[in-house]
Amino acid sequence: MTPLKDLNVVNPDQSTQTNSNLHGRIWDPVNECLNRETLVQLQTSRLKETLLRVYRHVPSYQKKFLQAEIRPEEVRSLEDLQRLPFTTKEDLRLSYPYGMFAVPMREVVRIHSSSGTTGKPTVVGYSRHDLQTWTELAARFMTAAGVTEDDIVHIAFGYGLFTGAFGLHYGAERIGASVIPMSSGNTDKQIMIMQDYRSTALVCTPSYALTVADRLEKSGIDPRSLSLRVGLFGAEPWSEEMRREIQERLGIVATDNYGLSEVMGPGIAGECQHRCGMHLFEDHFIPEIIDPDSGQVLPAGEVGELVLTTITKEAFPMVRYRTRDITRLDYSPCPCGRTSVRMAKTMGRSDDMLIIKGVNVFPTQIEEILFQVEGCEPHYQLVVERVGSLDTLEVQVEVNDRIFFDEMKKQRAFIDHLEKRFLSALGVGAKVKLVEPSSIPRHEGKANRIIDRRP
Ligand SMILES: [Zn+2]
Repeated sequence: MTPLKDLNVVNPDQSTQTNSNLHGRIWDPVNECLNRETLVQLQTSRLKETLLRVYRHVPSYQKKFLQAEIRPEEVRSLEDLQRLPFTTKEDLRLSYPYGMFAVPMREVVRIHSSSGTTGKPTVVGYSRHDLQTWTELAARFMTAAGVTEDDIVHIAFGYGLFTGAFGLHYGAERIGASVIPMSSGNTDKQIMIMQDYRSTALVCTPSYALTVADRLEKSGIDPRSLSLRVGLFGAEPWSEEMRREIQERLGIVATDNYGLSEVMGPGIAGECQHRCGMHLFEDHFIPEIIDPDSGQVLPAGEVGELVLTTITKEAFPMVRYRTRDITRLDYSPCPCGRTSVRMAKTMGRSDDMLIIKGVNVFPTQIEEILFQVEGCEPHYQLVVERVGSLDTLEVQVEVNDRIFFDEMKKQRAFIDHLEKRFLSALGVGAKVKLVEPSSIPRHEGKANRIIDRRP
């Protein structure tokens, strides 16, 4: 294990020293820098406890384990985890609202829910201890992103049943930063508060960060006149190109973090200053990558669907939860000193993955290309239709004012260029339609970029 004295400890409970090097700060060096052997021991014992608990207290787990003919005590190593059945969003729906809680309601102190695309949202609960864990883990990734007690953290996620705002709110307070619980919406007011209260850290979705950048530009406000220096963006997949765009236009460092309500909320993983993948807090979650079609566990480093097992949650433990997020895991060492595995930026959700003529297409791939082509705005929409028995993909792209709506020839050449780029990057053809500036609806929360009209 890395000796503690060599690390830049900032957690007031663990620190007897102060260090002014903000970028190397680690919130919880004991647990964030465990060697693999110690970590595996810890994970194994926590996993065993979790399995015994869910088997005893959650009827749907007991039923599934019995069906799979495995008893919790037969799980002796992390490899045995593969023998357990998956948990899916459908399982949560079937036990709506409280059927998968593993503690009595009198021990539940907070309830959130996760947005459902269809039907009722799923309900998640937290014990007092779960909230403490969540706060600590949010403090971990926010510290890794560079947030300190000197920051003024502007939270533009919606406060409510959604876990985003509360997760980062308590994490920032734990660090000792000043929190502005702004909530979402009303971009002009957001900007006024940023100016007047001198917000230094912005918390929202990456697409909303661009909405803010647009509004600043329209209002003639120089982003450099604000105090913003760092952004913590999550809740939707975004590309490296989008990161560059946000950094350039807002003049900040844009960092990625990962979470989902069913598993805890934000605080599952987050980037350190090297931004080479998000450190996943393996002392609380065991990650696996599976082939989304076959359910087979894939070898380390391969791209597939992330499956998470919680090993410290009390009220709402999840065993092998299928996140639907597509990513890959990297076990190589990170220069920051944290030893946990790093997950790559999510490429999209397996639900968002469009299968066009048998080829997998993610909205983030399209976004990458649009950001690279001069004249395109980062606002786009994908329309999928079926003509006869063939799927067609249309990419509606906003262009900026400089682009020649009146010159047909130039417009055609521009479309051809884009279509060629799509074909070579996606492996499948897409039709490009240019649309007027600002004609695609802007989103204050998660961007919904796909219109699928297939029967
Ligand atoms: Zn790192």
